[in-house]
Amino acid sequence: MIPYGRQSIDDDDVRAVEEVLRSDWLTQGPAIDRFEQALAEYCGAAYAVAVCNATAALHIACLALGVGEGDIVWTSPNTFVASANCARYCGATIGFVDIDPRTYNMSVSSLEDQLRHARAVNALPKVVIPVHFAGQSCDMQAIHALSQEYGFRIIEDASHAVGADYLDGKVGDCRYSDMTVFSFHPVKILTTAEGGMVLTNRPELCDALRRLRSHGITRDPAAMEKKDEGPWYYEQIELGYNYRMTDLQAALGLSQLRRLPEFVARRRALARRYDAMLAGLPLRTPYQAPDGVSAFHLYPVWIDEEKAGRSRRAVFDDLRARGIGVNVLYIPVPLQPDYRKLGFAEGQFPEAERYYRGAISLPLYFSLSDEQQDQVVAAVKGALS
Ligand SMILES: *Cc1c(COP(=O)(O)O)cnc(C)c1O
Repeated sequence: MIPYGRQSIDDDDVRAVEEVLRSDWLTQGPAIDRFEQALAEYCGAAYAVAVCNATAALHIACLALGVGEGDIVWTSPNTFVASANCARYCGATIGFVDIDPRTYNMSVSSLEDQLRHARAVNALPKVVIPVHFAGQSCDMQAIHALSQEYGFRIIEDASHAVGADYLDGKVGDCRYSDMTVFSFHPVKILTTAEGGMVLTNRPELCDALRRLRSHGITRDPAAMEKKDEGPWYYEQIELGYNYRMTDLQAALGLSQLRRLPEFVARRRALARRYDAMLAGLPLRTPYQAPDGVSAFHLYPVWIDEEKAGRSRRAVFDDLRARGIGVNVLYIPVPLQPDYRKLGFAEGQFPEAERYYRGAISLPLYFSLSDEQQDQVVAAVKGALS
């Protein structure tokens, strides 16, 4: 079976982890600082805060912005459940903005319509979480302009998009947002096994994130009530968590980060090859908006069931039977049973639902060879004929 995604671990990665194992530090130590600084520099952001996974990153990003009971947070329905769950952890009310049928990212015109309506009924969101689906940046400039007009904060869920370009910068530079979150789960572009990072340009958010990932504890005298108890002294000044990344993971992340340009270049080359080889088939290949270049975490095609004369389900089953580990991403979050309990139902996000009905993600990862990709394309042609 050719999987839809997989990690690439080389000897340098193994050596980097082994070195930490033999060192004095296992959990949060000097490798964390190095990984944070290197990723912040790569992306062009001022600060980076490493945590145990992107779900935790999204949670403390919401908390750092003061999200709590009575607040409203909006995200995309076409995402992993974590993009929405983070708001619920904080006791906030979650809402969704339908997607653009071309990019499958949050639609700016739907966002604007929804904001206008929310202002009329006094229910504006405190935070909007755009998700860079499949590795392509949302239209952040437009979303940022709306944030100025309607007074909301922005957390980019860039779990798919480390290494992506947007305008003349990198995704993660936070030029149009308060914070950006990355995931380093093994199916993503670079991995620390489990892991996540929050980037920001705002020092006060960085301080809050560092505290929240470690129990809400500070050792900074300026932030403490009692300044001269002694060198052992620390204070918990708010309720935080243990969301720390280990030094083992940070060493792996730092080693992987050196290969990120190579990872992204290969993914882009494979995507261009798919585009060329799949042309003319009854499916839609991913659209690249002119304002950026995707990092291609995923290569989602949309099966045109009418033109194909076959259902998405039949094509999917056929591909699996041919040894191609395709996947379907994403089931619209509001249609999950736990979200239906909140009152969400079919028909509320028609574009996300239409996309989901035809979606299949084809295998795409750094070590996928041209020959394996040819095999995938042959299987797709077979499954569609
Ligand atoms: C993977 C993913 C997450 C969660 O990442 P973890 O590191 O597994 O917690 C959040 N949002 C999106 C869009 C994802 O794809």
